Amino acid sequence: MVKLFFTLIPLILFCAFNFQPNQNNSENPFFKDWNTPFKTPPFDEIKVEHYLPAFEEGMKQQKTAIDAIVRNTEAPTFENTIEALEKSNKLLDIVSNVFSNLNAANTNDEMQDLARKTAPMMAKHYDDIILNPKLFERIKEIYKQKESLNLTTEQKTVLDNYYKDFIRGGANLDDKGKEKLRKINEELSLLSVKFGENLLKETTAIGLVIEDKNDLAGLPEGVIKSAAEMAKSKGQEGKWVFTLQKPSFIPFLQYSEKRDLREKVFKAYIHRGNNNNDYDNKNILSRTAALRVQRANLLGYKTHADFVLDRNMAKKPENVYKFLNDLWTPAQKRAGREIEDMQGVINREGKNFKLEAWDWWYYAEKVKKEKYALDEEMLRPYFKLENVRQGAFDVASRLYGIQFVERTDIQVYHPDVKVFEVKEADGKHIGILYSDYFPRESKESGAWSNTFRGQSNIQGNFITPVVYNVGNFSKPTDEKPALLSVDEVKTLFHEFGHALHSLLSHIVYPNAASVPVDFVELPSQIMENWAMDPEVLRMYAKHYKTGEPMPKELIDKIVNSSLFNQGFETVEYLAASFLDMDWHTLTDTANKDVAAYEKGSLGKIGLIPQIESRYQSTNFAHIFSGGYSSGYYSYIWAAVLDADAFQAFKEKNIFDKEIAASFRKNVLEKGGSEDVMVLYKRFRGAEPKVDALLKRRGLN
Ligand SMILES: [Zn+2]
Repeated sequence: MVKLFFTLIPLILFCAFNFQPNQNNSENPFFKDWNTPFKTPPFDEIKVEHYLPAFEEGMKQQKTAIDAIVRNTEAPTFENTIEALEKSNKLLDIVSNVFSNLNAANTNDEMQDLARKTAPMMAKHYDDIILNPKLFERIKEIYKQKESLNLTTEQKTVLDNYYKDFIRGGANLDDKGKEKLRKINEELSLLSVKFGENLLKETTAIGLVIEDKNDLAGLPEGVIKSAAEMAKSKGQEGKWVFTLQKPSFIPFLQYSEKRDLREKVFKAYIHRGNNNNDYDNKNILSRTAALRVQRANLLGYKTHADFVLDRNMAKKPENVYKFLNDLWTPAQKRAGREIEDMQGVINREGKNFKLEAWDWWYYAEKVKKEKYALDEEMLRPYFKLENVRQGAFDVASRLYGIQFVERTDIQVYHPDVKVFEVKEADGKHIGILYSDYFPRESKESGAWSNTFRGQSNIQGNFITPVVYNVGNFSKPTDEKPALLSVDEVKTLFHEFGHALHSLLSHIVYPNAASVPVDFVELPSQIMENWAMDPEVLRMYAKHYKTGEPMPKELIDKIVNSSLFNQGFETVEYLAASFLDMDWHTLTDTANKDVAAYEKGSLGKIGLIPQIESRYQSTNFAHIFSGGYSSGYYSYIWAAVLDADAFQAFKEKNIFDKEIAASFRKNVLEKGGSEDVMVLYKRFRGAEPKVDALLKRRGLN
């Protein structure tokens, strides 16, 4: 994923915030020029007390710059307004990037307190900019003349972004409308925070307690051990506890022989947020959906989905529905065949029942062993982290001719972090890449890519990018180095793809770096194709002890099992995407009966009963407390793009220099500086076709 930092309005506006801000600005590294290599952040010098004064000063500087733009008596021009805006947040940009990245990857109580304090400050700061009528007047004036101003394509895009973002932020409303919008936004952000807090409580809750050893039948030793440790941490020593977090209960579903217990924990999982207790999310989400309709109407849109999609590639709800529908039937068909395989195992075992949703993981595991003779543990020794990272680097070198050189003279924010300088084939500096791959208490879960400094080139002042990749991969132990799972290998390549997008960027304005949410996963997901390609596996998958390359029979097994469970994964994902769209194409603002609405939504598409939607409304964080409302479809939308784009390589050679150069020039360098479909077509010569994705998932 690409990390999106959302502005959160804290429930408690006052918070424990008890350090003394450092009054001596000359000591604050944010107020000094950085004499570090490539002006990378001087992490050794940055202390938590330096952030707040830097945030305050950064906001002050931007406000001063904007006052100057507004007071300018000259007629508004692109240079004296838009370009001036692009340059107005230099300090604020630096401090907020360093702070938000470190708060995600290496946080502590003081940092979290500070986040609760600065988030509303920043939200108000940006509202004040967007709702500044004089500033909007100038932008509107330039926008009206945009065709006669001789602007470059990128300048036109940036102008368009500003104009639309201001309107979408409420700039065109009268005072009454603005007031109403602020109120709706405030209530929505509180609902979103509450939804997330409830869900966290319901997810970390105990899903299953086992007291009788016989009920552990089938579970591997490691799973039993973790459950015993979980019991201890929950004050139930001597028992075994499974929470509703995936790493805890999924292995139970995969291996437990106790069918009734699988059912119990599965049902607890899908009922999160729907237990009529203090953490119930039903009222919260129906109110959220209703407020979103109100806001969309206020801003001139029929539904929330129309509002959101206006800025995406998909443009309109009907396009998303058509896209999802085209995939739906073949996906259900494939899932039906997977059910037959599993029912076959059940019957051969002499059992007398029909497969249900809570049996899926258990019997899928059996089919995997039977059909593909594949066990993850056979692969790990070939996926030593350092080898995998080098594999990703080597793929990029062969494609784009770029080099990666480790630097030990650049400061890091944690000893686990490694630093690489990225250079062109001729040695010219491109940017810096940090990698930070192991889990720790101070790091959020998941994996992501972000920048400490984005690339830009205003008036010939070329700023090189400083990028970082974060993961939570398997750690080294006393006896073994870090040996990754297949999923972790793909994730490393995925985040590295986002990093390449940032590193190879060649735009002028920072604003042009932002790309629609249904395009942003193309550069990342396409890298996963190389990760598991036999030719690439032969390059980097070497046994950590002997250095032997992965044997052909193992590579064959990986290739042969690539379609395993794809029907299930596609169906559960698509069902959730339909549910998201249904909640956000509502046109009335009455609170809905959540259970009935969800049942109607999933009934309409005829979801097969052996599969549940990947999320239920009451635990669908992406859409009710994340940034993916009317956007959950994006992942598979971008999968069409990445499969189609990779097809271009496969048709010739996966390391074809010419195709790589075109992908770099037309996609990676351009950010969002032009309509992304235009960019894509320039690379591929045509709009993306869904065929390659269908084939990759076995849906053709
Ligand atoms: Zn991603």
